[in-house]
Amino acid sequence: MIPKMEQSGLGWKNRWGHRIFTFVCGLKNRLLRAAAWKPILRSLRPSLSGALGILILTSCESMDYYRGAGKFDTVVLDAGHGGYDMGGRAIFGVNEKSITLDIVERISEILIQKGYHVILTRKSDVFIPLGERTSISNRTPNSIFVSIHINWSGNRRAHGLETYYYAPNSRRLAANILQAVGCSYSTPIRGIKFARFHVLRCNLRPAVLCELGFDSNRYENGLLQHSQHRQVLAEAVAQGIIHEEKGRIP
Ligand SMILES: [Zn+2]
Repeated sequence: MIPKMEQSGLGWKNRWGHRIFTFVCGLKNRLLRAAAWKPILRSLRPSLSGALGILILTSCESMDYYRGAGKFDTVVLDAGHGGYDMGGRAIFGVNEKSITLDIVERISEILIQKGYHVILTRKSDVFIPLGERTSISNRTPNSIFVSIHINWSGNRRAHGLETYYYAPNSRRLAANILQAVGCSYSTPIRGIKFARFHVLRCNLRPAVLCELGFDSNRYENGLLQHSQHRQVLAEAVAQGIIHEEKGRIP
C-alpha cells in the first residue's frame, strides 16, 4: 500500500513511469518463469495433447451414447442377403436369407401396430446391393436403420448374440436391442461391437446390424428353424427399438 500523501506527491509523469516500470518488470519475470517451464512443457506436450484428445473424444462418445438415436418415427428394416446370396448356410433347414426375411416381416408387423412407419429394403427373395440398402436409409428422414443377420462360424460350438454399430450415436440402439434380445431366451451375449460394415459406415442415419444367433450351431439353428422362436426374436428386436425411441439407457 502506498500512503496517500506520497501518492499525491508524485507527478503524472512519475506515476505513469512507475506503472510502465512495474509492468515491464512483471512481464520480464513472467517470461523468465515461462522459459524455465518451457523444456518441461515441451516434453509433456505430446502426452498432454494426447490425453486431452482422448478426454474430448471419450466425452463426445459418451455424450453421443447418452443422446442415442434421438427421436424417430420410421424404421428401415433390412433383411440380410437374398437372391443368389444365401448368407450363412444352415446346418439343416432354411438358410440365413430366408430366416432374416421372416424375422424382418415379423418385426415390421409389430412396429406398424405400435404406430411406426416401416420401410423394408427387400420384401422377397431378391438380391439388393449394399449401396442400395444404404441409399434407402439415407433418403428416409426421421429414421433408424436395423439390419438383421444370422451368424455363421466354422466352429460349430460358436453361439450367442451380437450387435454392431459404427457411428457413436448408434451404440445405444445396439445396446437396447441386444439387451432386449438377450432377455428373450437363454444364450450368451457376445457383445456390442464396432464394425466398418458398408451398411453401417455409409449410413447417414443411426444404424445397427444384429446377429441373432448362429445357424452353424446345432442348438441355435434348431431354434431359428422354428417360427415360434423367430417371433420371440422379432418381438425382442421391436422392444429394443421402442426402448431406444423412448430414450431408455441400458
Ligand atoms: Zn449375414
